[in-house]
Amino acid sequence: MCGIFGYIGPKTNAAKMVIEGLKSLEYRGYDSWGIALKTDNDIIVYKKTGKVGEINKLPKNLLGKTELAIGHTRWATHGGVTNANAHPHFTENKEIVLIHNGIFENYFEVKKQLLRKGHKFTSETDTEVIAHLIQENLKRHDFEQSVKNAIKKIEGRYAIVIIHKNENKIIAARRGSPLIVGVGKNGEYYIASDVPAFLKYTKKVMYLDNDQMVILSENSAKFYEIKTHKEIHKKMIEIGWDSQTAEKGAYAHFMLKEIMEQKETLYRAINQDDRLIKKVADAINNACGTYFVGCGTAGKVCLTAEYLFSEIAHKHVNSIFGSEFPTHHHFITNKTLLIPISQSGETADTLEAIEVAKEVGAKIISIVNVETSTMARMSDLIIPVKCGPEKAVASTKVTTAQMAILILLAYASIEKLSEGKILLLETAEKINDMLNPGYVMHIFKLAEKLKNFESMYIIGRGANYPMALESAIKLQEVSYIHAEGFAAGELKHGPIALIQKNTPCIVLVGENGSKSAILSNAMEVRARGGYIIGVSPTHEEVFDYWIRVPEVSIASPIVNIIPIQILAYQLAILRKNNPDMPRNLAKSVTVK
Ligand code: GLU
Repeated sequence: MCGIFGYIGPKTNAAKMVIEGLKSLEYRGYDSWGIALKTDNDIIVYKKTGKVGEINKLPKNLLGKTELAIGHTRWATHGGVTNANAHPHFTENKEIVLIHNGIFENYFEVKKQLLRKGHKFTSETDTEVIAHLIQENLKRHDFEQSVKNAIKKIEGRYAIVIIHKNENKIIAARRGSPLIVGVGKNGEYYIASDVPAFLKYTKKVMYLDNDQMVILSENSAKFYEIKTHKEIHKKMIEIGWDSQTAEKGAYAHFMLKEIMEQKETLYRAINQDDRLIKKVADAINNACGTYFVGCGTAGKVCLTAEYLFSEIAHKHVNSIFGSEFPTHHHFITNKTLLIPISQSGETADTLEAIEVAKEVGAKIISIVNVETSTMARMSDLIIPVKCGPEKAVASTKVTTAQMAILILLAYASIEKLSEGKILLLETAEKINDMLNPGYVMHIFKLAEKLKNFESMYIIGRGANYPMALESAIKLQEVSYIHAEGFAAGELKHGPIALIQKNTPCIVLVGENGSKSAILSNAMEVRARGGYIIGVSPTHEEVFDYWIRVPEVSIASPIVNIIPIQILAYQLAILRKNNPDMPRNLAKSVTVK
């Protein structure tokens, strides 16, 4: 989590640029923020709890001329949300400042050693300990060597960016958490956790890989392997995204913009090279066990893979959460295929699963939206999701696109790729028609009815069971209403005890095979007073409120989740929550 942004170059408004860049990274963390500006022989630090401040409300000394600045927007892991714990972190003698994304796992041990040496800490963070470790090294070594020595002691995943009051350079290093260098005009450089921070200035980037560091000065970017200090020559890559796709445009929130983009993202996701899809399908057919691995929403998409492959290809595949994989992997071999699914490609738990699988030589083929992410670079092959930037914390367009790719793969694995494509093209057309203003208003009306409830339930069968779980995540994330998803048939084994008069229960009706069974389950809920909201191609007697979705047979989880995304969005608005920045959450979960 957390957003990092830094600038060095001839522009003299570095502070303003960094603050603007941080705003586009707030989806990564927004409990507090801060910047550090280098002046002639000094560093000014300003940090505060809450969202990134408005430029015109900042103290004047921050807006003076400066050509070097770094900034951070935090998602707290160690230490509460306070001004003192916000980044950047100074050392006692105010010689260097540091910003950090990730967790310094052995910080406590190192902190104890530094306390014994007389260091005094002003925050509760793991981050401040790294700054002091560098300061300790500065007693004997130069800036670069001190950073290198300190890094060697850090266990865990991190991205760090450091500046020194007497040096016109930015030093950055990473393991696990992302860092990308943007190459601007006239010898200027940007460094950020994600490209939207500098997309309006440059599309030219160079990626820092694990255990590498970069030293940015005006006119030069030098990359090194940390262990050997061997210089590395990086390839410059041109990013395909433009700054407009990373902006909200006419929409009030990214979440709504991204929901509406589903009118076209499915087309983009299924517009894949047939040879690539067939190659991956062959890898699935030839593997001795295929594991789909993901976290959160992507984890639910992985679970749909089990149902989709079973139903379409009569084939068994497995799914598991990234965080569970390191304790549930002992049976994998070099013949196993791991298919990680992720929007950002930076999810720490999924990256760790990849590392575990790679240790035994398993093959890695990822389904990932950010094609230049760490995950993409760790994989043998990738299927790009092609959705463009997804910035709202709650995933929407990428979720449906990922499921479309699973359907393509399942059909390709039985040599019926064109059948799968036709189904998905029809689905995309129907989604395009479905997402009209009248449809959205019909769901907004439902939100009005539900806004004061504190609990709701969602049920599904087959591939719509994972979508019931995903619906619950969507509602929890942005509306903060307690929501739980269940396999519809499981309700009577316990959860039905929770149903009271008017308890809302959303019923995701799947394709014909499971329809009558789930309608019976809906009846059971209604008989106990539940208020039944049916998401279904046809109206049924048992529904108190009907949300129509197109008939798309096995692709029903794709269309069924879309109205729930709209409902969750509108509930957030009615309950006065910011759907793009839900409390306690952040996008790109780069900590374990
Ligand atoms: N562990 C650090 C902290 O709690 C950084 C967390 C982050 O990635 O934002 O401040």
